[in-house]
Amino acid sequence: MSQQPAPHSLDVLNPATAEVIATVPAATAADVDAAVARATAAQRAWAAAAPADRARLLRRFAAVVDEHLEELALLEVREAGHTIGNARWEAGNVRDLLDYCAGGVERLLGRQIPVAGGIDFTILEPLGVIGVIAPWNFPMPIAAWGAAPALAAGNAVLLKPAETTPLTALRLAELALEAGLPGGLFQVLPGEGPVAGGALVDHPGVAKIVFTGSTRTGKHIMTRCAARVKRLTLELGGKSPNVVFADADLEAAAAAAPMSFLDNAGQDCCARTRILVERRVHDRFLDLLAPAVAAVVVGDPSDEKTGMGPLISAVQRDRVRGFVDGLGEGGLPDGVRTILGSAPDGPGFWYPPTVLAGVSPEAPVAVDEVFGPVAVVLPFDDEADAVRLANATEYGLAGSIWTRDVARALRVGQGLRAGNLSVNSHSSVRYATPFGGYKQSGLGRELGPDALTAFTETKNVFISTEA
Ligand code: NAD
Repeated sequence: MSQQPAPHSLDVLNPATAEVIATVPAATAADVDAAVARATAAQRAWAAAAPADRARLLRRFAAVVDEHLEELALLEVREAGHTIGNARWEAGNVRDLLDYCAGGVERLLGRQIPVAGGIDFTILEPLGVIGVIAPWNFPMPIAAWGAAPALAAGNAVLLKPAETTPLTALRLAELALEAGLPGGLFQVLPGEGPVAGGALVDHPGVAKIVFTGSTRTGKHIMTRCAARVKRLTLELGGKSPNVVFADADLEAAAAAAPMSFLDNAGQDCCARTRILVERRVHDRFLDLLAPAVAAVVVGDPSDEKTGMGPLISAVQRDRVRGFVDGLGEGGLPDGVRTILGSAPDGPGFWYPPTVLAGVSPEAPVAVDEVFGPVAVVLPFDDEADAVRLANATEYGLAGSIWTRDVARALRVGQGLRAGNLSVNSHSSVRYATPFGGYKQSGLGRELGPDALTAFTETKNVFISTEA
């Protein structure tokens, strides 16, 4: 990846209208240097503060986020095109995670280990300054998944939001100051990935990078971190299966399937975009799925009734279209059945909900992460075939299993190489449970009971009792 000259500012567009809604300065490598210096000083004082005081400040930060919930949600609707319902959930997720992590500050426990000749114990120490590099698809929650546990564990955080979605991140940094967090402790550096993000990755004063984004960029960052043996968490792409067995409640499975890949217009790393259906109910399932897809309201994301908004950008829409158009020149190949939803005409980056049945399991649309409202339906013959097909991907982030047979759900769950499974549901993310990917979907875990530990170094101390 070549080093591009940094623009002096970033235009932020409303994806529903394609209008510029804000322009923000883009951070340079020199800005990152200065931010690291401020963060380093702030972190020392923060780590030395009483744990109860740190916890209290994080709880206050959560309360201030709560007071600004609607404002943050509306900002996310405007900069990311999220539906208002989703955006409210996302702002609430930031608040809840801050509260959850605040509860961990005074419970970040080391261990006492039985050894001969003395006492042995471990101390969990903060790493220092953490660089969080976030994508545009869930700007607020993903920023918080890195920042909240890192702060709670006694670190400072420098957050680099995606180029297209810096606004909620910038507002969160203001709210942190309003809540009383020390200046310099949580800073936001909007900017170009290779410039501001690259400077964080290469900076010797940044102890760990938490990266969420594409697998391609993640691999690049991993090589850069290797040069310094820098700690790294990667949350990358996905191509998650939704496995529907013939013994499932098919009506419920078909009713739930659309939003499992249309939520956030399919720009969701956990999107269940490979719907695997047992062959003998394949056609019936498609018949049930069609009206459920058609019922999803696509349009103005600020309207409470809307289920799906626009894609983030023209580039992303063209990329998504390329996967579908790439299936055949001058139309879809024979035997491919499509289920289409509606999408508004006019300005904004719209693409209709699209389901493709009868495509080859090797087609790019069935294998690669599309990151748009497109799913394929593929038939399978039996349990073993379902597991084989579900695992036939370089990704391993999430997956769903629909069956009435609990033993089968457990067997298939054991066979799936993915970090986040749900049975008769498509839920993937809760702040209290670990989240992350197998294979090329990532490295490490976020959230859950061990979230703070990922931002610490373990120091072992032995005290001789024989001196
Ligand atoms: P991206 O990789 O293009 O960008 C992600 C972030 O990295 C942005 O902030 C970008 O500016 C920055 N960046 C780009 N090049 C960089 C470089 N050379 N050095 C440092 N930083 C750099 O990804 P995206 O298109 O913004 O996001 C979509 C991807 O994110 C999808 O693949 C999706 O699956 C993935 N994602 C994963 C998870 C997860 O938890 N596993 C969650 C959300 C999104």
